Amino acid sequence: MSFSFTPEFEALLEQVREKMESVVYPLEDAARRNFEEALPELMKARDALRAEGFTAPHMPKEIGGMGLSFLEHARMSEILGRSPIGHFLFNCPAPDAGNMELLHQFGTEEQKKRFLEPLVRGEIRSCFSMTEPERAGSNPVHMDTVAVREGDEYVITGRKWFTTAGHLADFAIVMAVTDPEAPPHRRASQIIVPADAPGFKHIRRIPIMGDEGYGWSSHSEIEYDHVRVPVTNRIGEEGEGFKLAQERLGPGRIHHCMRWLGICERSLDLLCKRAVSREVGDGQTLADQQVIRHYIAESRAEIDAARLYVYSTADKIDKQGAYAARVEISSIKFFVAGVLERVVDRAIQVHGALGITEDTPLSWFYRHERGARIYDGPDEVHKNTVARHVLKPYLASKG
Ligand SMILES: Cc1cc2nc3c(=O)[nH]c(=O)nc-3n(C[C@H](O)[C@H](O)[C@H](O)COP(=O)(O)OP(=O)(O)OC[C@H]3O[C@@H](n4cnc5c(N)ncnc54)[C@H](O)[C@@H]3O)c2cc1C
Repeated sequence: MSFSFTPEFEALLEQVREKMESVVYPLEDAARRNFEEALPELMKARDALRAEGFTAPHMPKEIGGMGLSFLEHARMSEILGRSPIGHFLFNCPAPDAGNMELLHQFGTEEQKKRFLEPLVRGEIRSCFSMTEPERAGSNPVHMDTVAVREGDEYVITGRKWFTTAGHLADFAIVMAVTDPEAPPHRRASQIIVPADAPGFKHIRRIPIMGDEGYGWSSHSEIEYDHVRVPVTNRIGEEGEGFKLAQERLGPGRIHHCMRWLGICERSLDLLCKRAVSREVGDGQTLADQQVIRHYIAESRAEIDAARLYVYSTADKIDKQGAYAARVEISSIKFFVAGVLERVVDRAIQVHGALGITEDTPLSWFYRHERGARIYDGPDEVHKNTVARHVLKPYLASKG
């Protein structure tokens, strides 16, 4: 197992670090305070980065991306994750990144032309609509949204929520039941719904701890009221919705974990800077206090352990595929989300009252990343998966 990267890729990462310093961080405060007002400047910066080739790192060069391998993109994700707008400016935020991967792998030529290519060029935005307010998202086989076939069309009816970036998106990939009589994991399909289709009703941006966000940085409730789309908008075969969701979520969890480690590194950096500069007595700073040193040591160890665990999981995905690595994927999902929560919380604590203001990115991280232990499978569900695997031989030997 080796995690070294080529000298060319290391040189590219240096350039990305430089772009973070010169382009991303200077725009960050304005974006965190009012994303809508900051948008024109952000779009200008995003276009400029794209013109220099810094866009859609995970997509092949032939369609306008940077052509990175899975592991390389994971590595770059950590650097971009240091800022709340890093992935957005490099055109690989969730859910666009996952939607691009899905369309690239499973889309028809027509779907690629109409939806994937403009997405990679940064001309349009997308969202992914699976979770419903009235159904437990942690077991999505129970779903009320239906897509009823009428001739060459599907008629989609249902209500979704927590559709990230649904506000002002150009299209949604909607998970809907196409055959209620099929076995649970064969009931649903993924269907592309343009946001200008009659019956696509954006209800609201759901406030997250008081912050409703805007566009890319928001989560929407959407009603699909007898929306008609051609059958050719279905991705993959009918009934393959959950299979495609797994293909999308496994590798997606690696990218989330690496982004979270970027947030951890930034938070630890802020914690240390504050600790050495904040005087709490004559000639005494926070950094002189043993308990603060413990926070630092614990954070350092947890982040480094988490990174190695994520890399080894990514390596297994590369060599044996996402299915073979499913237990490790579940482990890193809950483990790294926990490290993220603890490290950001320690950094806030060390900043005192300043930590919960908008004067540092810490409050944004805290507000927007508490969901890390919930989305893409809550902790408890992933822990069940891991424990089931660990217990298997013991239960088998019990007979
Ligand atoms: C920030 C954010 C962004 C999101 N983005 C999207 C998106 O773009 N598209 C989309 O479709 N969805 C999205 N979601 C929704 C997300 O996928 C669901 O919230 C998640 O699947 C959990 O479903 P739920 O909220 O219905 O919780 P429930 O299923 O109601 O579960 C509630 C809690 O019960 C516990 N629990 C659940 N199952 C078990 C179990 N088997 N054993 C023990 N305890 C259990 C867990 O603590 C869980 O948190 C997003 C959510 C968040 C927070």
